[in-house]
Amino acid sequence: MLKKLIVASAALLAANAVLAADYPDQTITMVIPFSAGGPTDTIARILAQTMSKSLKQTVIVENALGAGGTLAAGRVMRARPDGYTVLLHHNGMATSPAMYRKLAFNPLGDFEYIGQAADVPMVLVARKDLPPNNLKELIAYVKANKGKLSMGNAGLGAVSHQCGMLFLSAIGTPITTVPYKGTAPAMNDLLGGQIDLLCDQTTSTTSHIRAGKVKVYGATTKARVASLPNVPTLAEQGMPGFEMYVWHGLYAPKGTPQPIIAKLGGALREAMADPNVKAKFADLGAETVAADKATPAGLQTHLKAEMDKWGPIYKKAGAFAD
Ligand code: ASP
Repeated sequence: MLKKLIVASAALLAANAVLAADYPDQTITMVIPFSAGGPTDTIARILAQTMSKSLKQTVIVENALGAGGTLAAGRVMRARPDGYTVLLHHNGMATSPAMYRKLAFNPLGDFEYIGQAADVPMVLVARKDLPPNNLKELIAYVKANKGKLSMGNAGLGAVSHQCGMLFLSAIGTPITTVPYKGTAPAMNDLLGGQIDLLCDQTTSTTSHIRAGKVKVYGATTKARVASLPNVPTLAEQGMPGFEMYVWHGLYAPKGTPQPIIAKLGGALREAMADPNVKAKFADLGAETVAADKATPAGLQTHLKAEMDKWGPIYKKAGAFAD
């Protein structure tokens, strides 16, 4: 029995080595959980383009939408573990187990970790003609207009949903929430005045803030966002401890051979060190991560820490879906 096992695992190792030696010899698909044109999509396209150059192979982005990002994670979990399908996901990977009673995947058991990829702040914005001019006025306005305002998000467990939930629980007043399949369509509706409020990443909000197309009430970060120095944080305006930023991770299906994970990781770290990527990210208020975070251990440790941090908070908040 033992001998059979040893022979079988030796055969598997040899097969993996052959697979890895030629890798990549076909297009790689980077699956992302939200709409084209949104924040995750923007980060993914910059990464895919840069990693294509390092890997000398095309990396395309596939938008697998629905259920707050959980469908995309399930799609990659079930994909062949051959390095040709990877997942770029954000905080939702860590928080969905606390929000979905029936989840098709286990973030800690069903994936190989490639590395962390980008950190992005969020800001709370509104349609430009919403009357309040600062956070204090906004809070009073929301309380005075109970049941009349609406806030968009990208579905249960999306970061826009998490940020909105934290904001609304801080002010103790509910608002009607409108779910979309990403914040790109939510932003379109905000610009069109169909919804009132949205918490979204700087990736998608910066240009609209600069152009005066949306009203901004504050950043979710500890310190002000470098690219938006005139936007105060929510914390400095009387919401101490309000801190949320969006982190990203690159994953592969469980069983993807380690030499392939190493090649993908090398390309990811090259992208994180690329001055072009740094400049593009900086313009969007985003940041590349340090080389030690863009590693399997860096991602796995952070994922686990975020699950431990947010899981109990969201379970207590009772934000569930079956
Ligand atoms: N960041 C997501 C997007 O790209 C949405 C979200 O998580 O709120 O649309």
